[in-house]
Amino acid sequence: MAGNNKGKLFIISAPRGSGKTTLCNMLMKKYPSIRYSISYTTRKPRNNEVHGKDYFFTDKETFKAMTENNEFLEWAEVHGNFYGTSKIQIDNALESGTDIILDIDPQGAMQMKEKVTTATYIFITAPSFNELKSRLINRGTESDEHISLRMENAKKEVEFFKFYDYLIVNDATDVAFNQLESIYLAEKLRTTQYSNVLEFMNI
Ligand code: 5GP
Repeated sequence: MAGNNKGKLFIISAPRGSGKTTLCNMLMKKYPSIRYSISYTTRKPRNNEVHGKDYFFTDKETFKAMTENNEFLEWAEVHGNFYGTSKIQIDNALESGTDIILDIDPQGAMQMKEKVTTATYIFITAPSFNELKSRLINRGTESDEHISLRMENAKKEVEFFKFYDYLIVNDATDVAFNQLESIYLAEKLRTTQYSNVLEFMNI
C-alpha cells in the first residue's frame, strides 16, 4: 500500500482450544507479510514442535540470564513454564515492514500494553466454557491433569477480555476469520501507519 510501509504489531490472547492458531494461520496464509513472533520458552517441545519455528526452546538458566539482560519485551510464567518475547526480534521485524502476531497470555499482554501503545490487542474465545473443554479433550494432546489446569486458567484469562481492543467469539471458523481479517485490514489503514503521505502524493 502506497506510503504504508510500517509493520504492525497484533497481540492476540486466547484460552487453548478457542481456535486461535487456526485463525491466525488462515490470516498468515492470505497475507504473507504477517509473521508470528517466535517466543522463548522453558517448556519441553511437544511431538511435532520444531525449535526456531514454534518456539526457541531453552533451559531455565538461559531464560533467567535473558531476563536479567533485559532481552525480553515481556515475559511470564504460564502453566508452570516461562515464556518471553524477544525485543530485538520484534523491533527488526516491524522496522522491515513485517506485520507481527504475538500469541501471548493476558499477563504478557498487560505488560505489553504498558510499553507498546501502537499495538492492536485482540482476544479470541470459544462460545462457551463447555465448548472450550470439549475442544481440548478432542485434541487428545493434553493429560487429564493438564486439561483441569488449562480450564482453571481459561476462567482467569477470559476475565481480562476488557483490556483488549477487540473480542472475537469463535463459534464458526469462517465467521471468526472474517472478523479477524476485518480487524487486520482496518488496523493497517490507521493514519499512524503512514509516514510519508505527502511524498507518495507528490505534494
Ligand atoms: P503453549 O505452551 O500451549 O504453547 O502456550 C501456553 C501459553 O503461553 C499460551 O497462552 C500462549 O499464549 C502463552 N505464550 C506463548 N508465548 C508467550 C510469550 O512469549 N509470552 C507470554 N507472556 N506468553 C506466551
